[in-house]
Amino acid sequence: MTPNSKHEPQCFLCARSLRRVGADFTGKQIYKCDHCEYVATPISTAAETIALYDDPEYFDGWGCNLEFDYDRFEPSVHRQVQDYLDFIGRHTQGKSLLDVGTGSGLLPHLARANGFEVEGTDLSKHVSENVPEKAGFPIHHGTIEEIQFTRKYDVITMLHVLEHTSNPLSTLKRCKELLNEGGYIVVVVPNYQSLDSRIKDFLSAFKLKSRPYKHLALGHHNYVFSINSLEILGEKSGLQTIHRQTQQPAWRAGWWHRFLERYGLATWCWIVYRKAT
Ligand SMILES: [Zn+2]
Repeated sequence: MTPNSKHEPQCFLCARSLRRVGADFTGKQIYKCDHCEYVATPISTAAETIALYDDPEYFDGWGCNLEFDYDRFEPSVHRQVQDYLDFIGRHTQGKSLLDVGTGSGLLPHLARANGFEVEGTDLSKHVSENVPEKAGFPIHHGTIEEIQFTRKYDVITMLHVLEHTSNPLSTLKRCKELLNEGGYIVVVVPNYQSLDSRIKDFLSAFKLKSRPYKHLALGHHNYVFSINSLEILGEKSGLQTIHRQTQQPAWRAGWWHRFLERYGLATWCWIVYRKAT
């Protein structure tokens, strides 16, 4: 989608017309590409986006704290980041890592303890000014398209980031430029095709939810992707998809959750792209 598109918005991946699904409880319009299997909402202005992520309070939830005191983060947060690190260990190679939209910086902090050389990026001034001093690694301020990098990386991670960007295609292409030959990009986003999302979509469409489409978190999320849309996105960026799966958050991991994962119905999409050598 393009900023504030009014009529007949087109899919940024396949150029087909998007279908209007409805509006969420705040009035945000929802458009879907049935071919690529994702939904999108007209993008907010850059100024609104910066104001949203610059607010330090944004980082005070999610089991983290404003002081970036990692030992005091909730155990569930540590467990989730450990899951990401185990996954990175299984599916990638190399020892330099750039974490795009790093937030608290816990992932690079723990990756460094595992022998990685780490850097991060973030849109938030609060993060880029405070985390480096506290954690001891650099954080570049801004979008990945704007930042002037002086080096390349073996692994780039974007965990819960791509759905917030205004142009996922330019973001992914920029990541590819910043990779060493044969390097990897690990992306985690909410799964539009999850069972949870399908049920809530159905209830929203039939006006059976008090706050329709709240689960899409539009306003924060400009896009809600599926594995299919992520694969197309990789293809359009000139990247090879080497692994994909859906997975539940670490704190929800019983037999029922493994069942959802087996059928691609779990809450999050995890995908690994590789830059061909
Ligand atoms: Zn499409």
